[in-house]
Amino acid sequence: MTKKYDVIVIGAGPAGMTAALYASRAELSVLMLDRGVYGGQMNNTAEIENYPGFKSILGPKLSEEMYESSTQFGVEYGYGEVTGIEIDGDKRIVKTADDEYESSAVVIASGSEYRKLGAPGEKEYGGRGVSYCAVCDGAFFKGDNVIVVGGGDSAIQEATYLANIAAKVTVVHRRDQLRAQRILQERAFDRDNIDFIWNSTVEEIQGDDRKVTNVKIKNNQTGEETVVPAAGVFVYVGILPMTDAFRNIGITDEASWIDTNELMETKVPGIFAVGDVRKKHLRQITTAVGDGGIAGQGVFDYVESLK
Ligand code: FAD
Repeated sequence: MTKKYDVIVIGAGPAGMTAALYASRAELSVLMLDRGVYGGQMNNTAEIENYPGFKSILGPKLSEEMYESSTQFGVEYGYGEVTGIEIDGDKRIVKTADDEYESSAVVIASGSEYRKLGAPGEKEYGGRGVSYCAVCDGAFFKGDNVIVVGGGDSAIQEATYLANIAAKVTVVHRRDQLRAQRILQERAFDRDNIDFIWNSTVEEIQGDDRKVTNVKIKNNQTGEETVVPAAGVFVYVGILPMTDAFRNIGITDEASWIDTNELMETKVPGIFAVGDVRKKHLRQITTAVGDGGIAGQGVFDYVESLK
């Protein structure tokens, strides 16, 4: 039999957990589904220094704290990868591979995933030197040379983290200056064991069939190619929205981000979207949490309006 809820929240990152907290505290019945462990991208972050209330906190620890507080008013937490949503009058049917759930409202909080480089060797050496998460894999590279690809906040924050573990970190960036926040740049520039290769892209990740040994880098101004010895390659070249499962309901823009108004409402009544999956300016934990609060209140108003 299909289980029924007032609200189904898809994704248990900071945005989804906050929406679930607000909706459940307003005494709605809430199912929060995630295809992995709660916390979302926070689990891939070492130190978080820009979430008010904590001077500095490890990402997995903040995930745990948020989970404890967001489930205190009776949120049901379930495992499942959502594969689609169907609209049937006022009913919203949420499907996973094994189950089907019904609700009046849905909050999509499915976040984003790492963009891949698309370079030869990236797939082949995934988990054998190629990584998208310094916190998860950095410890395997103690005393090694590693490459970080990218120039935004994530790349520079994680390069600085890796500099505590690896012998040397080389940041490869396609432009001649970083995009990261000034404070993160200064910290990276202050480290003796972080080098920068500017105006360059990774052409190929090479290995000995077992693991990564070298990275071929091409200067996009001169065309010159160099081979840099490295045991690890950490890739931070952008993010893509996790919206494949929601394409059929017509709520995404041309780049697949979900369009909402400032109440987090999508074009479809009763379907809200929050956090990184939205078309928005700043993708951070603070903004994810803010979106979640607004949608948590919004679903209450929506469910009331159906009575
Ligand atoms: P996410 O955290 O991405 O959570 C989405 C959840 O949805 C995931 O748990 C996922 O498993 C689940 N999901 C996806 N699709 C489905 C599906 N079909 N079915 C079921 N579940 C699904 N922000 C800061 O504020 N400070 C920092 O210092 C900081 N550092 C960062 C460092 C790194 C390396 C990275 C990658 C990000 C960092 N961020 C930081 C950004 C921050 O982590 C994100 O902005 C935030 O986690 C977004 O929250 P969210 O809830 O929207 O999405």
